[in-house]
Amino acid sequence: MRMSVLVLAEQRSGLVHPTTYELLARARGLADKLGCDVGCVVIGCDPGDAAQEAIFRGADVVYVVNEPGIAWQLPGPQSRALQQVIEEIKPEVVVAAATTTGRTVMPLVAARLWTGLTADCTELDIDDKEKLLLQTRPAIGGNIMATIKTPVCRPQMATVRPKSERPLPRDASRHGKVVNLRMRACDVDRGHEMLIELVKDETQEVNVQDAEIVVAGGKGVKNRDGFRLIEDLAELLGAGVGATRDVVDLGWASYPHQIGLSGKTVSPRLYIAIGISGAVQHLAGMQTAETIVAINKDKDAQIFKVADFGIVGDLFEVVPDIMSRLRTGR
Ligand code: FAD
Repeated sequence: MRMSVLVLAEQRSGLVHPTTYELLARARGLADKLGCDVGCVVIGCDPGDAAQEAIFRGADVVYVVNEPGIAWQLPGPQSRALQQVIEEIKPEVVVAAATTTGRTVMPLVAARLWTGLTADCTELDIDDKEKLLLQTRPAIGGNIMATIKTPVCRPQMATVRPKSERPLPRDASRHGKVVNLRMRACDVDRGHEMLIELVKDETQEVNVQDAEIVVAGGKGVKNRDGFRLIEDLAELLGAGVGATRDVVDLGWASYPHQIGLSGKTVSPRLYIAIGISGAVQHLAGMQTAETIVAINKDKDAQIFKVADFGIVGDLFEVVPDIMSRLRTGR
């Protein structure tokens, strides 16, 4: 019987990335509704304690594929290893993070298995009647949310936006299995790519997705100098810097800072939106923040509809005032 929800673990430089724990939380919810196991596949790195950690975070079985001499950074070997695991364990559902890795590996596998794949989901659920995976993602420029099903082919595959779900609390009393799998010889030899060099992408230095507090600025800051106010407040609070797409398009901030439908999804404890109107495409990237504070001179701005606290006022007066209060500890 095809019964499990399989998570593709995300790894960076040989370490399992925390986004895997968000996926495991999603998978756990789905598996509980389907009455099946959660599997987690770790490809190309020594999982060490991470396999046990995945079990504490919701996995029942961790499948490890890691043989020496294979350039695991390449999508070819990764996708063939994932395909092999899927063919062996026949999961009902396969999920991966909507990151560069997930967005590259999952389509390759889905195409080879002749099944469907919904990219960039913000929500996953199980249909009560048919027990099908409900894959929800923004469509038509983010103006509607589309829910997609894969009724015929298997497995049902989806990539999920990082930070759209919180990891489960660590439960050290959970037990599970770790299974080491060997790559099929025919798959090892089938690569058409070659790893020449690994080059660090310096533009991705800023990891606004990991910040507990995000201070984000919109077009209301007027220009590049105005955006420095956002950066200064962020520095004072030890926060990450976010920006709207308009701000990025205008060159006042770089793309790794963009929050929203075509940028990053963040879920910090505190999100401070300054001079941001609250377009649906921006909200798609930040509305799961625990507490949202908005500063806008227009009392009818959409951002106030999602804000927990709102300040109606001119940001060039409000933000310096907040900063001077923070500096003097008031
Ligand atoms: P505006 O909408 O112009 O808002 C500026 C706000 O500043 C206004 O509310 C104004 O009242 C306020 N303001 C002005 N002066 C002051 C002042 N002195 N003090 C206080 N407040 C002031 N957008 C994103 O952000 N992220 C995305 O990923 C994204 N993806 C998109 C994808 C698609 C397919 C499309 C079609 C659009 C996308 N957009 C995205 C763009 C989005 O639709 C909006 O255009 C954008 O979010 C608006 O940015 P903004 O809030 O900075 O600017």
